Amino acid sequence: MTTVTSPLLPPLKEFQRCLEQIWHNRWITNNGAFHQQLEQAMAAYLGVEHLSLFTNGTLPLITALQALHITGEVITTPYSFVATTHAIWWNGCKPVFVDIEEETCGIDPDRIEAAISPRTTAIMPVHCYGIPCNTDRIQAIARKYGLKVIYDAAHAFGVRRDGQSILNCGDMSTLSFHATKVFNTVEGGALIVNDGETKQRIDYLKNFGFASETEVVAPGINSKMDEVRAAFGLLNLQQVDTAIGKRHRIATRYRDALRGIPGIRFFDDMPGIRHNYGYFPIFVNAAEYGMSRDALYFKMQEHGIYGRRYFYPLISTFSSYRGLPSATPANLPVATRMADEVICLPIHHELTDEEVENVILQVKR
Ligand SMILES: *Cc1c(COP(=O)(O)O)cnc(C)c1O
Repeated sequence: MTTVTSPLLPPLKEFQRCLEQIWHNRWITNNGAFHQQLEQAMAAYLGVEHLSLFTNGTLPLITALQALHITGEVITTPYSFVATTHAIWWNGCKPVFVDIEEETCGIDPDRIEAAISPRTTAIMPVHCYGIPCNTDRIQAIARKYGLKVIYDAAHAFGVRRDGQSILNCGDMSTLSFHATKVFNTVEGGALIVNDGETKQRIDYLKNFGFASETEVVAPGINSKMDEVRAAFGLLNLQQVDTAIGKRHRIATRYRDALRGIPGIRFFDDMPGIRHNYGYFPIFVNAAEYGMSRDALYFKMQEHGIYGRRYFYPLISTFSSYRGLPSATPANLPVATRMADEVICLPIHHELTDEEVENVILQVKR
């Protein structure tokens, strides 16, 4: 038995019908019918006003910084996927790493102000594992210093707090629809903005800056989503709640079974939060558990269970970034410890009861 991840796939027959429609339309990219439908359906599903589809989840990060004219230094978290920091670098800005808080795995608001310099223009936090950051405090700091806030919300598809989408926080938020995410369009992503004028500008930027046939208003890029993937996404959107429901049941089973094991910690559901169960991280305290995280990780692999060490190694340890003053482990003690302790257990909509029990067995020993 091998337990690996499994992407959410639309029913093949229905996808075939969509493909026939696309063949019939003879319109395969550039804001076609499926692209328009998915933008509308997605905005309604998520509870946001203005959303622009992208060809992956990295280009909306890069485009957000471009659109907001971010320069100088950007405060961010080392506890994320590398794309978060790469997007800052690709805009010619300097990433400044700030440690995370244990309660959310998001950037620690208590440590942001000390990292602000006269060159700081933005904060780029991550709703890690879909757990909302401390957005109120981040916003208060941003307001005080006149900074923009761009959330990497790649993990936060459908996450709500007190009924409101967390994608409406800050100046912009980005999503990833990569195959490994809760919702996918094979590859894909989106940028969520606060007003129609900004959405218009984003729509230009993702199409080379074209505002009309003859007018280029900015140095844009090509990051549009095509019709085939928009159709794929439209079908997946219809079944994503069912998939989230299955993930929820698996998370509940994991929690019931793993609670009380010395040295194993995990997140409980948080009051008022509608989670998406995209990840089920556990944190292994080697001394209390009697085995290191890596020993457990490789033992699980011997039993065919492929967990993921998200996020190890920290972005700040990669060769491109480790020379930055803010990248020193002494500046990032919580992130360093959590990166050394984390394993994300397998969780997806097709995981069988037998597979779940096998994972539990290996963690329980
Ligand atoms: C997946 C992911 C991205 C990148 O998205 P792609 O669609 O793979 O380009 C960015 N940030 C985080 C936190 C992610 O998990």
